[in-house]
Amino acid sequence: MSLADLRVEIGAVNDLLCASSVLVWDSRTMMPKGAAEARGHQIASVIEAARARLMGAGTARAMEGALREIEGLPSDAAAVREVEAVRRALAFHARTPADLLRRKAELRAAANGAWIEARASNRFDLFEPYLARTVALSREYAAAIGGGGHPYDALIGLYEPGETVASLRALFETLRAGIRPLLDRAASAPEPRLDVLRRSFPAERQRDFARTIAAAFGYDFDRGRLDFTVHPFEISFTRADVRITMRRAETFDPPSIFGGFHEAGHGLYEQNVDEAYTRTALATDLVGLYGVGGTSFGAHESQSRLWENHVGRSARFWARHFPDLRAAFPDALADMNADAFHAAVTHVRPGLIRTDADELTYDLHIMLRVELEARLIAGEIGARDVPAAWNEAMRRDLGREVPSDAMGCLQDIHWSSGMIGSFCTYTIGNVMAAQLFETAVRDARIVQGLDSGDYAPLNHWLREAVWRHGRRFTREEILAQATGRGLDPAPYLAHLAARYGA
Ligand code: ZN
Repeated sequence: MSLADLRVEIGAVNDLLCASSVLVWDSRTMMPKGAAEARGHQIASVIEAARARLMGAGTARAMEGALREIEGLPSDAAAVREVEAVRRALAFHARTPADLLRRKAELRAAANGAWIEARASNRFDLFEPYLARTVALSREYAAAIGGGGHPYDALIGLYEPGETVASLRALFETLRAGIRPLLDRAASAPEPRLDVLRRSFPAERQRDFARTIAAAFGYDFDRGRLDFTVHPFEISFTRADVRITMRRAETFDPPSIFGGFHEAGHGLYEQNVDEAYTRTALATDLVGLYGVGGTSFGAHESQSRLWENHVGRSARFWARHFPDLRAAFPDALADMNADAFHAAVTHVRPGLIRTDADELTYDLHIMLRVELEARLIAGEIGARDVPAAWNEAMRRDLGREVPSDAMGCLQDIHWSSGMIGSFCTYTIGNVMAAQLFETAVRDARIVQGLDSGDYAPLNHWLREAVWRHGRRFTREEILAQATGRGLDPAPYLAHLAARYGA
């Protein structure tokens, strides 16, 4: 029994997880809504089968030989990291019984239905008991995972290993202090011409434009496709098939074309993981039971944010590509130029809805959610206290009165999906994106490429620095290798100041 035998077992686990991801992709793009309940059972059963295979006798037998085989190898050798990832996952699942996963899946199905109804009818009371049960089950899950410290730490670790309530609070304090004065400044800036965004931009032509740009970024359509959805996402079934989506919109709605850029960034990461890692523990989240090549949710988000914001929302991008956009939408853009369009798509306006938020206010939405989750999991507040706590934080941080819970604490799908602990990864991604980009653009060829619309040099740099490593290195190791240090908010604040401080 050896590493080769272990790869047979983990290959089968990866196959099952990728198969469940196909079911997820279908459920969010093509599936008729009447199939939701049946599909929930199908996905849960396939993931259960993956977990059973992982925890089966075959893996246990193969582990003994694999552990002997890696003896004496350097601690960062790919084979060592591969076996360690399996060992960590086996220990994790031994602590968290399958029964708990099943109860989480059942609650998710019920909570999701309740949330949809509660949001549609603006009745938090319909969702409150499900939120209370989700919090209770998350606390039970956190206790099973263990690790000491704040109970929320265990849940954060599912998405962003290494981060804790304490590390996030310190990061958020730094970000808040930097964002606040920029926000005050933006509030007194003259309003650009925003009416252009509400003109007619036929959805099919928006998709064609996003396809052209995604291909220019280096996204490979022979191993992927771009479809319409309501809430854009990326999902992969190994690097050979990486699907991306964008919102179908008939106006210039950011989740449409910018959503396409964002998801193309996620897609580039998955498509460029070292081919040798396919179907191994270095391209599978064996703890979260998810077929993914990116090393953490935050690292993944850094790639989408880098292409969406640092490339796609830059003045140089629109200086180069605005003529292409105007050629695609001659009626809507006849009286616009690149500068005016760029001003419209980077306009700052504190709003109520996270997914509509501009780059400067986005993290304030995240901080509010992370703080609420931490207090819920610690038992400092209960589910019934959430609307008042939410509205109070919106008033304090964004200066907005929340007119209804549907536009407040009921807006996100995360709590009804049991994804407590995941919100911080959006902000981690923003910070990491800026840090990587700051280093990348020290290379004059990359800058020349950005000016001329040749994205191959940036693509190459990211492939070498981030993508090819898959899950071999941690987020902090990748950052240290690429930029010489761990996560550092300074480049992100410098980027925000450069874009929104003038
Ligand atoms: Zn994303």
